[in-house]
Amino acid sequence: MPGLRAVAVFCGSREGNDPAFAVAAAALGRGLAEAGLRLVYGGGGIGLMRVLADAALAAGGQVTGVMPAFLRRREVAHPEVADLITTDSMQARKRLMFELSDAFVALPGGLGTLDETVEILTWRQLGRHAKPVLLCDVAGSAAPLVAVVEAAIAQGFAGPEARAMFEVTAGVGPTLTRLAMLAQPGL
Ligand code: AMP
Repeated sequence: MPGLRAVAVFCGSREGNDPAFAVAAAALGRGLAEAGLRLVYGGGGIGLMRVLADAALAAGGQVTGVMPAFLRRREVAHPEVADLITTDSMQARKRLMFELSDAFVALPGGLGTLDETVEILTWRQLGRHAKPVLLCDVAGSAAPLVAVVEAAIAQGFAGPEARAMFEVTAGVGPTLTRLAMLAQPGL
């Protein structure tokens, strides 16, 4: 994948209550590694973050974790991620994850995942970047965010182009396929 080297993945610091979420996180971590794509993530050693990173590492992938110093205890910095970068704030974490990555994938998660995903979309809305944003839908996980964006458009608070700032991919397989397509020159 010559045009894509690193993909940031946003996901939960908990595993959620559907086993499909962890299955998807593991499949994405493994798939990124097999595609030769560096995983950039929040550096955590808990929840889906851990499942994702463990799978990428087990498949021989390159993994970069980005974590604010104050969170290292609470989110348990992943012990096997050698490339763990410490920042001094959440904002600096998001900024660095953005700079290190060529595309973004949102897996299921909580408020932190939502915050990271929406912020990357607002940066795109403001023309700060044109990097692809994929919402990887697992058991309907992407529907609420899609509904919020569509409601904002319907209420006249966002233009129709807001819906084109991200793509919903129906699971990990289509997400990896889409990343491979995006890496092709001319697309
Ligand atoms: P969650 O989806 O709430 O489990 O959080 C997923 C990840 O997002 C965790 O690593 C959180 O620390 C992180 N996170 C939560 N809030 C923010 C924020 N405001 N900026 C950056 N990362 C955040």
